[in-house]
Amino acid sequence: MEAPVIAIVVPCYNEQQALPLCIGQLKQTLNDLIVSGHISPRSFILCCDDGSTDDTWETIKTYHASDSSIKGLSLTANRGHQNVLYAGLMYVAGRCDAAISIDADLQDDPRAIGTMVEKFKAGADIVYGVRKDRKSDSWFKRFSAKRYYALRRHLGLDSIPDHADCRLMSRRAIEYLSEYGEHNLFLRGIVAQLGLSADTVVYDRRPRLAGKSKYTIGRMLGLSIDGITSFSSRPLRLILLTGVMLLLLDIAMSIYVFISYFGHDVIPGWTSIMLSVWFLGSIMLIGLGVLGEYIGKIYVEVKQRPRYQIKETLND
Ligand code: UDP
Ligand code: MG
Repeated sequence: MEAPVIAIVVPCYNEQQALPLCIGQLKQTLNDLIVSGHISPRSFILCCDDGSTDDTWETIKTYHASDSSIKGLSLTANRGHQNVLYAGLMYVAGRCDAAISIDADLQDDPRAIGTMVEKFKAGADIVYGVRKDRKSDSWFKRFSAKRYYALRRHLGLDSIPDHADCRLMSRRAIEYLSEYGEHNLFLRGIVAQLGLSADTVVYDRRPRLAGKSKYTIGRMLGLSIDGITSFSSRPLRLILLTGVMLLLLDIAMSIYVFISYFGHDVIPGWTSIMLSVWFLGSIMLIGLGVLGEYIGKIYVEVKQRPRYQIKETLND
């Protein structure tokens, strides 16, 4: 096999402080792999500026002027990590044999790149970067991530625990990803659904090179909601189930209300209010649940996700 062309895709939002260190380390890693013949000399780094308001784009331009293997792409406005990463992957599609996405703060160890390439050469279409040690993340981040991935598993959704968006994707994996046209992106969820051969590389999560985290609590919450609502309509079905359970409870409640009514004195009006509150409540939830069933179907249709993607054909 000829040495593969590798593209390193780096999403950058206001990363002027981290970029020089980041580019230096990534360039060094690429050079080592090129010199040892593991990857093609045509391999490159693509820095994707997500509408930064600081000198991120100027910094990328300066590096590109002196080294054409450091390429750039700039969005007109801040579209968020998932969108800029998608833009970068679509840009390198057809220009490389595999792309590796890594954050500009290099919290994910660039030494994993070499191992990812090895596993790609051994036949993996996707190699997930998995964080072994997350001591550099806050207690809250670790705890919420753990609970969140447990919830996703509970809903029957695939995910690789402790994998964010640092991963290698083969040309084929990127092509398959491009068939997903949805707007509420949760890339790690889609990639896990592709069903291509996958492997993992484990490393310690490091502190940020420089600058501050761009993921506020609000953004994190938004991403986690997308991670569920973009993949599962089960929460809608839960409304219907709750309605049906309430109706069963309503039957038991009605028996109790009638026994009280005939058995001893109750305040006038109590019986009719109790009967109607329970009955109307459950009927309304069931009604909402039925609407939910239809909305769930519409939701699947509007996504227009690919129906299937071919793994292999035998054609001779
Ligand atoms: N990022 C981006 N657009 C955004 C927010 C973040 O491109 O709107 C990039 C950021 O520059 C970094 C990566 O996404 O390269 C991950 O962000 P960060 O390190 O701030 O998140 P954390 O690691 O704290 O979750
Ligand atoms: Mg980070």
